[in-house]
Formats: sequence, C-alpha cells, structure tokens
Amino acid sequence: MNRQTMLAGAKGRETPWDIVVIGGGATGVGVAIDAATRGFAVLLLEAEDFGKGTSSRSTKLIHGGVRYLEQGNISLVMEALKERGLLRQNAPHLVHDLAFIVPNYSWWEAPFYGIGMKVYDLLAGKYGFGRSRILSAEETIERLPNLQTEGLRGGVIYYDGQFDDTRLLIHMAATAADHGATLLNYAPVLNVTRDAEGFADGVTFADSDSGEQFTVRSRVVINATGIFADRVRRMTDPEAKRMIAPSQGIHLVFEQSFLRANAAIMVPKTSDGRVLFAIPWHGHTVVGTTDTPIQESSYEPKPFEGEIDFILDTAAQFLSRPPTRADILSVYVGIRPLVKEDGDGVGNTSTLSRDHTIHIDQAGLISIVGGKWTTYRYMAEDCVNHAITLGMLDDRECTTRSLHLHGYHQAPESLGSLAVYGSDADAILAIAAENPRSLEPMHPELPYCEAEVIWAVRSEMALTVEDVLARRTRALFLNARAAISMAPRVSQIMARETGADAGWVASQVEAFQTLAQGYLVPQGYLAS
Ligand SMILES: Cc1cc2nc3c(=O)[nH]c(=O)nc-3n(C[C@H](O)[C@H](O)[C@H](O)COP(=O)(O)OP(=O)(O)OC[C@H]3O[C@@H](n4cnc5c(N)ncnc54)[C@H](O)[C@@H]3O)c2cc1C
Repeated sequence: MNRQTMLAGAKGRETPWDIVVIGGGATGVGVAIDAATRGFAVLLLEAEDFGKGTSSRSTKLIHGGVRYLEQGNISLVMEALKERGLLRQNAPHLVHDLAFIVPNYSWWEAPFYGIGMKVYDLLAGKYGFGRSRILSAEETIERLPNLQTEGLRGGVIYYDGQFDDTRLLIHMAATAADHGATLLNYAPVLNVTRDAEGFADGVTFADSDSGEQFTVRSRVVINATGIFADRVRRMTDPEAKRMIAPSQGIHLVFEQSFLRANAAIMVPKTSDGRVLFAIPWHGHTVVGTTDTPIQESSYEPKPFEGEIDFILDTAAQFLSRPPTRADILSVYVGIRPLVKEDGDGVGNTSTLSRDHTIHIDQAGLISIVGGKWTTYRYMAEDCVNHAITLGMLDDRECTTRSLHLHGYHQAPESLGSLAVYGSDADAILAIAAENPRSLEPMHPELPYCEAEVIWAVRSEMALTVEDVLARRTRALFLNARAAISMAPRVSQIMARETGADAGWVASQVEAFQTLAQGYLVPQGYLAS
C-alpha cells in the first residue's frame, strides 16, 4: 500500500465511486473488503491512521462472548462463534486459539460454569476451537502456575480466539487494496455533499499531509466512524439525536512473569459483576477490562483512577504475585461504540446490546455502528447488502466467507518473530538482506526491529512515529517507556526512508513522547 498512489487514485477518479466509506477501523475496512471483492469501486477515508480509534484498543479476543451467553443473547453468541471460526480459517497467521480457565473457589462454580461452557461448545458446532472440561485443582495450577491457590477447588477450561487487532486491520486494508479498493489515512471527511433532492452524493475530504481539500462523488456513502458516528450523521441531519452511548474500558499491561502461562484467566464475575481477563499477549500479560459510561468520545481517552484500582484489586485476588502500580508497563483505553436504546442520558452501558445497528437517514447516509471486532465480516456483509439496495448497485453476492486475508500463511510459527506478517515476512526478510542487523530488536524488552519500520513506511502507509510504535508494531501498548526510548531511532529510520529533515525528526519524537505519557501510570491518569 502506497499513500501517494492511493491519494492520486482518490482524487483522480472521474466517474462517481460506487461506495465511499468514512472511517478506517474494523467496521469501515471490513466494508471496504466486502464491497471491493464484490467488484464495486470503493474509496475509504480515515481521518487519522487506520485503527487510531477503538479498533486498536480491544482486549485482543476473537470470541463468541461468554458474557453474552449469560445475558441470554444466544443469537449474538452463535453469530460471533461462527465468525470466530471463519476468521481463523481465513487468517491463520493472525488468529489463533487460546485456552481460557475459569478458576473455581466455590463448590457451585465447577458445575455452573462447566455446563455454561458446554453450551458454548455446542453453539460453536463445527466452528468449535476445542472442547471445554472441568479441571481438578492440581490440573488448574499446572496450567496456571501463578494462580492464587488459597481456597482453589479447580477450574473450567474452554477455548476462544486471540489476535493482534491493528495487525489484522492492516492486513484487512491490504486485502481491500489487493482487490482494487482505494484507502487513504490522514484524510478526514469534512462534509457529506447532497444532490438537488437532498440525497447524499459524495464527500469533501482533506489530505492532512498537504492541507488540500477534495470533493468526490459516490452513489452510496457509508458512515463507519464508530464512537464519532453522531458527528458524521449531523453532516446530513443537523438535528440527529445521539445514537452512541460511549463507554470506556481500560487494560493494564504487565510483564509476562505475572501470568507465566500459555492460558488466560477468565474471571466471570468480579466484585461489581463484570468479566475480567488476564491474557498472555506478545510476551506480556494484559489484564482488563472495565465498562465505565462517559459523556464524550475522544481519540486518547484517559483511565480513571478508580478503574486502575479496580483492575489491580481484582488481579490481586487471582494472581499469587499481585501486580502493583509500579509494575504497569502500559495502560490503554478504548471506547465502545454502544448503541443507545433511546433518550439522551448515559446510563448503565454494560447491559446495552453488542449487536450492530444499521441506520439510514433521510439523505440516504448509511451509518453502521456497534458490533464487535469478531463480527466485522458479518457486519460488512449486512451493510453492503443495504448499500446495494439503497444505491441500486448490481446485486452481487458476498464472497468474504472463504476469502483469505492478505498475508495468509498456514504455518506462521515457522516465521518466528515475524509470524504475524504471514507471507509478507519474506518481503521484510528481503529488506533485512541489505543489512542483517536490521533484524535485531531495537529495544531489549521488545522484539521489534528496524526492518519492520522500513516495511511499515514502504508498504503499510505509516506516516508518523506513532503509526509505527502504536499500530504497525505494538510497542506503545506493551511497554510505554520502552516505546518512548525507541522513538528517536524510529523517527531517524523513517526520515531516511522519506527524505524528511531534522525538524520533522525532532517534532515527531516530541509529539510521540507527549502522547505516550498518557499510557504511563501514575503520570498519565485523570482522577475521577
Ligand atoms: C475496551 C474494549 C475492549 C474490546 N475488546 C474486544 C474484543 O476483545 N473482541 C472483540 O471482538 N471486540 C472487542 N471490542 C469491540 C471492538 O473493538 C469494536 O467493536 C470495534 O473496534 C469498532 O470498530 P469501528 O471501526 O466501528 O470503530 P473505530 O475503530 O473507532 O473506527 C472508526 C474510525 O472512524 C474514523 N473517523 C471518525 N471521524 C471521521 C471522519 N470525519 N472522517 C474520516 N474518518 C473518521 C476514526 O478516526 C476511526 O479510526 C472492544 C471494545 C473496547 C472499547
């Protein structure tokens, strides 16, 4: 993917696009793949970087959602379990299965969760990832050596999927591009244009790099801007009522040694009735999440003091070595684009539906909001079906159920630290052939190397140091201090690639270091 080529394609088209998608998170990029593989002319515009919004800040699970089972939302669970299976089948380099253990400290938990997980297995049917079963206390400790053993009776093991959210997103963007879509980051949509009858017929967007503005025409305009969907809806309907009830969730990241296992802990009911996970991820331990209603959406939400305490307290109940504030390597916060039932108040968001919603306003602007990372493909199929009807486009079948995603590789383990790149790993190794030292880690605590930075600039449309350290690699999310110390070197490598001057290097380092403060505790939090 090359941004200059994409920009030239975006502004150079003389006939209207079939579909313009606003928003480059999981939902928008999913729609771009679906539409492009049906043969439509698609332009996707992302205001910041791909995944800058919620899609980089998930718990990293491709799952049916055990919690929704407890809420009785069987259809959502079944749909998500099916999508989980399809995603592992279509992107084995990016989605793998992971054992989850529910530790049992009361007599009733083994039969209760044991039966619940059997239902989960049954709902997965042929898309199952492995059978759940009840474990003895000894078996539980063997799999989770750092579990709090006092009062432990045993556990229930079940299987779900895990992924790296922005790595998958970049491969999705590349898949859409491979099928002819034009995707542009740093291209905010400023306005949705309308024809003489008031129907949406295009958008005006800016190229943040040059400051230039362009207006393009389209038969259908899709708003896939997640937590920002209401702002875009007001471009065609200034009176539109709020549809999004934002709710934030935080994750704390620790060293691997706190979990020291290939399995995750799933706490089905915390002191305030939520679900909490402790998960091994990229050689670290991620613990989360929370569900705190907030008033306004923003790109860099901050954790509340109470959320940090809640996660530390809950982790202390389940881990034999309780983590402290000083052990936090990074804290990241995401905002769920939950859809309000009605009215304007923001109440208890944990009970709001995780299903997606498609809304079409009087101007014909299609907004798709809600859902989950796991179900992006199904959401996209549904959305493009609506677009076909609304825009009177050719009625072409969806083909994504069996579509291999970019980088598809059946034995990614053989690629070592480049496993997540799948078949792109060869291209990164080719870059490294010019300079074998470019495969050495840039920081002793993280695996990321110079060749990955070069690849991100040349082929993954990374424009800033933040793009590289937060989303092409996951340095910022795994260890904010390490990421801060990598910033000068990363900006030098990027400048060498692009020909940027010393001023650019200095301003990038400063901007990244300021941003990264928000991922540090205690400096970076806001008291509630
Ligand atoms: C804490 C947390 C944990 C989660 N964990 C999981 C999980 O483990 N598994 C799972 O399946 N799901 C999970 N989810 C849900 C999942 O992350 C979201 O459903 C999904 O990422 C939403 O994607 P999106 O594309 O709709 O929104 P976003 O990713 O926010 O994308 C919207 C994009 O629109 C862009 N945009 C906004 N305005 C404009 C404009 N004017 N012009 C152009 N672009 C614009 C933004 O920059 C943004 O990139 C979690 C969510 C949260 C908050």
